Amino acid sequence: KASPDLAQAARQADHGLDLAAIRAQFPILSEVIHGKRLAYLDNGATTQKPEAVLRAMDRYYRTSNSNVHRAVHELASRATSQYEGARDRIAAFFGTAREQLVFTRGTTEAINLVARSFLQPRLRAGDEILLTGMEHHSNIVPWQLVAAATGARVVAADVLDDGRLDLDDWRAKLGPKTRMIAMVHVSNTLGTVNPVEIVIEAAHAAGVPVLIDGAQAIAHLPVDFEALGADFYCVSAHKAFGPTGFGTLLARREHLEAMPPWHGGGDMIETVSFEGSTWNEIPYKFEAGTPDMAGAIGFATALDWIADIGLAEIAAHEHRLVLSAHDRLAAIPGLRIIGEAPGKAGIISFTMDCAHASDIGSILDMEGVAVRTGHHCTMPLMARFGVPATARASLAVYNDDEDIEQLATALHKVASLFV
Ligand code: PLP
Repeated sequence: KASPDLAQAARQADHGLDLAAIRAQFPILSEVIHGKRLAYLDNGATTQKPEAVLRAMDRYYRTSNSNVHRAVHELASRATSQYEGARDRIAAFFGTAREQLVFTRGTTEAINLVARSFLQPRLRAGDEILLTGMEHHSNIVPWQLVAAATGARVVAADVLDDGRLDLDDWRAKLGPKTRMIAMVHVSNTLGTVNPVEIVIEAAHAAGVPVLIDGAQAIAHLPVDFEALGADFYCVSAHKAFGPTGFGTLLARREHLEAMPPWHGGGDMIETVSFEGSTWNEIPYKFEAGTPDMAGAIGFATALDWIADIGLAEIAAHEHRLVLSAHDRLAAIPGLRIIGEAPGKAGIISFTMDCAHASDIGSILDMEGVAVRTGHHCTMPLMARFGVPATARASLAVYNDDEDIEQLATALHKVASLFV
């Protein structure tokens, strides 16, 4: 249940948020789907893009497209200043310094970078990497790859029945062999918001570095990289109203200085000769090849857009909606919600006795309701809860009561069709 403070904030925020104006900024929300109003509830997979982001990326290609860091002509200087300006804006959003931002293709690539360049050289046979049972595959498989290459082992802390992390089990598994901790900030399947501050403090007390997977967090709650104190924090632009295929690794300066490059090519070097090469300064040492300039500009614009609305207001609004959705869904016969951690984010996974998740998804689609069905790239978590798949409704700031109403009505229809 909501804490009284948060519930109060939600009521206040809803007076402040002009949802009609927010929705009007997303052209795709007026698409008609199978003759029905679109209720887009698949934001955990990817969010929609506001006009500001669409325009910024379009404007870049129309007025400034060139390559960065190289030529002296006017377009090259526009492209470079907009691209590097985007790095400043993204750094400011996360309360950190620009050289601590490595641009990547997304969270997945950021985690792989850390696994390969930071951890693998430090791993020995018998060492352990401590995860949790609610990780996305992209925060499991990169660690398994480096573990397999070194003889290290991946260990996962348990998840409680209500979807919270079992902190006692996590503490018990943090031991002398632990070399790395990686944890999701907000679970993409359960909506659980993990106690990352507690985890980081305990890990650092044991001398173990921490990576936080922030893919599902940054569009929904405030994240200050410096205040949080994580060693690494990984994000994807497309989960926060920005473009697909772009993301950022936020990393402590001293780690980046010490880490070897992982991709070789142009831009990441200082000098190249056949006798050997030397590396560019951070963060460029990790950014080989022509980067995604429009991606960086789109992401910076998306984060500015979020900051304009205010993350406290967004969190409070989504919290109110998720509580109302829980109430509505709990009234549907045979529906089981998986993940009921207190203070959870706007993600609702569920199963229904009467229908398989993919059938639920297809029927909802015919009613204009977009949800995700399947294992959500969290197969170990599906096994933990004894289900092959769930249907998942996931919220963003533009979702409103009508979306929840449309979802609930469509689910009643599923229940009546399959009785
Ligand atoms: N981590 C979590 C919790 C996610 O939800 C996702 C995407 O669904 C990822 C990581 C991977 O993000 P990307 O595919 O943008 O690299």
